[in-house]
Amino acid sequence: MILILKPHVNPETETYQKLASHLERLQNIKLRIHQVKGVEQTLTEIYLIGNTAALSLDDMRSLPGVEHVVRVSEEYRILGRHKDDNRSAYFDYQGVRFGQDTLNVFAGLCAVDSPESVEKMMKALRDNGQVCTRMGAYKPRTSPYSFQGHGKNCLPFVFDLAGKYGIKVIAMEVTHESHLEEIREALDKTGNPTGVMLQIGTRNTQNFELLKSVGRQQEFPVLLKRGFGITLDESLNAAEYLASEGNSKVVFGLRGMKTNIGDPHRNMVDFAHVSVVKRLTRMPVCIDPSHSVGSRSRGPEGILDVMHVTAQGVIAGANMILVDFHPEPTKALVDGPQALLLDELPLFLEDVQIAREAYQKRLSRFNL
Ligand code: PEP
Ligand code: MN
Repeated sequence: MILILKPHVNPETETYQKLASHLERLQNIKLRIHQVKGVEQTLTEIYLIGNTAALSLDDMRSLPGVEHVVRVSEEYRILGRHKDDNRSAYFDYQGVRFGQDTLNVFAGLCAVDSPESVEKMMKALRDNGQVCTRMGAYKPRTSPYSFQGHGKNCLPFVFDLAGKYGIKVIAMEVTHESHLEEIREALDKTGNPTGVMLQIGTRNTQNFELLKSVGRQQEFPVLLKRGFGITLDESLNAAEYLASEGNSKVVFGLRGMKTNIGDPHRNMVDFAHVSVVKRLTRMPVCIDPSHSVGSRSRGPEGILDVMHVTAQGVIAGANMILVDFHPEPTKALVDGPQALLLDELPLFLEDVQIAREAYQKRLSRFNL
């Protein structure tokens, strides 16, 4: 059960002390406090863990300082949607809103290679009105002999260039807990010119120790990619690990499932799950058309498969798009064959807009 406290009630207040001393007397119930930081205010939520079936909603509602009470089902306790659950389905970061009704495009390099490619990419984004990007510094690779990413060495120039071109959020995969400190340090040294959304890749969806350490910090939001060979429920539970440690600024990423039934696409595109994840949880949903399709193949009409599946995800209400671009894909060190070209960016964004408008039109028809 979750008690959402009134906006001004927090552990420093007298009302809170009264409430806490009452709750501490409840039999077989443990308390866990979560602070939900928003732009204007921080909300305090108290999670009651244990035999909450014995507690009445009305009794809990009448306690001092309590604004709202949610009885959670067993599944996805923090990130899930529960009955009478009016908790928000968005968070703000670096002035950008991530929610179940917003749409943000993160076009960028699969892997950072040279400062020149990063600069060309960021300039193109700025020229096309974009404030978010993807930039891989730590790359998990199938072969230990493949390029593993420039790691912490590239962070200073990536962050500096982001600042130069007005990029506010960079999605960046981390594969080890130590990468958080490296990112923090580089941001600090460069004067915090941008923000980072930590990405947990599909190979690490169930790396529970990594999830716990990323979940323990609340400075950076997290993009959790669905595991490519596990059930949706298992991946949603992985997201819940982040929240249970304290970080509920989580975006859930669909990136296709590994099976040759999806051939000739690199993965079986799973964007039909956009609405499922939005129904089961309050997380914004990201689609990754590049890693799903894995090539620049196009339909007979000339439209790239990457663009087709993007449109499919967006028309179903996706909230974020992670997509690979590269100024010179043949020279890219990772995933060049699936990258879009910089001069395809305006067309890509226009196509996204067409699909978004269609989604909004559908919404208005169904909400009559
Ligand atoms: C990526 O986005 O760079 C990536 C490696 O994706 P995934 O973890 O989905 O394979
Ligand atoms: Mn890649």
